[in-house]
Amino acid sequence: RGLDVLLIDAHDIAFGTSRWSSKLAHGGLRYLASGNVGIARRSARERGILMETTAPHLTRAVPQVVPVLDRFTRMQRTIPRLGFLAGDALRVASATKSTTLPFSRTVGKKTVAELCPAVDTSDLRFGYVNYDGQLIDDARLVTALVRTAAGYGAQVLTHCRAVEASGNQVVLQDELAGGGQFAVTAGAVVNATGVWAGQLDPQVTVRPSRGTHLVVNADKVGNPSGALTVPVPGHNSRFCFILPEQLGRCYIGITDEDLGSDTIPDVPEVPQDDIDWILDVVNQALATDLTAEDVDGAFAGLRPLVQFNEKPHRGRRGDTGGSDGADGTAGASTPTADLSREHVILTGDGDNASLVTVTGGKLTEYRLMAEQTVDIVADILRTTGETPGPCVTATTALVGAPGAPGVEYVHPSDLAGLPKSLVERFGHEAPAVLRTCPVERPLEPVAPGIDTVRAEFAFHVTHEGAATVEDLIDRRSRIGLIDADRAAALPAAQEIIDTLV
Ligand SMILES: Cc1cc2nc3c(=O)[nH]c(=O)nc-3n(C[C@H](O)[C@H](O)[C@H](O)COP(=O)(O)OP(=O)(O)OC[C@H]3O[C@@H](n4cnc5c(N)ncnc54)[C@H](O)[C@@H]3O)c2cc1C
Repeated sequence: RGLDVLLIDAHDIAFGTSRWSSKLAHGGLRYLASGNVGIARRSARERGILMETTAPHLTRAVPQVVPVLDRFTRMQRTIPRLGFLAGDALRVASATKSTTLPFSRTVGKKTVAELCPAVDTSDLRFGYVNYDGQLIDDARLVTALVRTAAGYGAQVLTHCRAVEASGNQVVLQDELAGGGQFAVTAGAVVNATGVWAGQLDPQVTVRPSRGTHLVVNADKVGNPSGALTVPVPGHNSRFCFILPEQLGRCYIGITDEDLGSDTIPDVPEVPQDDIDWILDVVNQALATDLTAEDVDGAFAGLRPLVQFNEKPHRGRRGDTGGSDGADGTAGASTPTADLSREHVILTGDGDNASLVTVTGGKLTEYRLMAEQTVDIVADILRTTGETPGPCVTATTALVGAPGAPGVEYVHPSDLAGLPKSLVERFGHEAPAVLRTCPVERPLEPVAPGIDTVRAEFAFHVTHEGAATVEDLIDRRSRIGLIDADRAAALPAAQEIIDTLV
């Protein structure tokens, strides 16, 4: 919109919840199940924008496979099919092409087993397949987004914490060794600190819910191409998924547990109970049980569920949360699985009228949340004589997508000869990753058996703001989700940081 923007993060790009998600671009089926048609449509529209315009290079359609067993009641057989048909209608209503997300369908036993080879076929009758969006990785989406903003002139400071936000002033703390504090004034301040939002805006109480995923080698579950979907016993609309992922892995999740603590950790721990619970749920659908020994890694993220104990001061635009009542209140005793996943946008009053807090919601809807938030910012700035332009993010491709500004035009055939994994992570920038590589042996894997090449690590430093070994291993790439892989990739990461930083 032509605004001067400073973006800061206390740690690194994608340090928070956004790297611990299930990496799905959701179409809003869950909202539909609770009768929230408007929100479901909005989610489906944002999914379509991501997959067709802003980040087609980082997304793909993943077949979600629901096995239907002999022991299922008529109701259990019918409900998923009706849900998927409604999902098809949502997809059509949001004008997402069927070439992007095909229609859902009923499939035979053989197809279920082809898509998810580890499935127990002993009392399998048939299956349903529905298509949803899947990101190659959530942290890569965040990196592409930040780089796109930087391309349009935003200044980006990582390892820089806001310690106080009041009026038009933010006090910043340089988190790198030897850094001090300094103040910055701005026409408006956006507090988009996720689960930590309450630390800067006392209006907000976030009640974090922990979602855990397990990481297993894909060959432990037959190298699936579909996402096996297993109902959580006792729930109508909760499922665990075995999701096929990059680096030859599968992620299996997900829990939804109240963190039960007022201290919000930087990186949440994974309790053994979460691991056992996930294994118990998915083993119901597998021919051979997965055991704790099969689990190579695990990660947990904290959902920023916003709890209002009293009626909040509401934002002028956007949404307020609340599944419990029209006023958006949800008491401390409400199970986190029942709290709203809606985002909230709040403005302050008095001296804090130019502080805008946005939190909650879904990664899939990041663009809409930003549009609504910046609409409020624009209103604030107009009162001081600024003239912000219109929102253009629904049609602005992120770096790496075809047509993104600053990215050279690449003919699809130019991508054909490159490693598939490189193209999946960098899209149309893949040739530039190799061409600009300043280190030796660009196509050599960073460790045996890992499909990340040295040129990727170098590009993370030269183009993506990576400054430490952890930035490379834990955020720009996700190698660190498995300890053994992390150890194997460490020497290459250290060498490249030592050479380039
Ligand atoms: C387990 C799990 C699975 C999920 N799966 C999906 C999914 O599949 N699809 C989907 O669409 N959504 C999913 N979600 C929801 C989605 O991940 C989150 O809603 C979203 O990532 C939140 O993004 P955010 O930017 O608000 O917060 P964050 O990603 O947490 O970012 C907040 C940032 O603020 C920084 N910060 C904090 N305090 C300060 C400060 N004082 N100064 C400066 N910086 C600060 C942090 O370092 C952090 O980088 C999932 C959530 C969870 C927990």
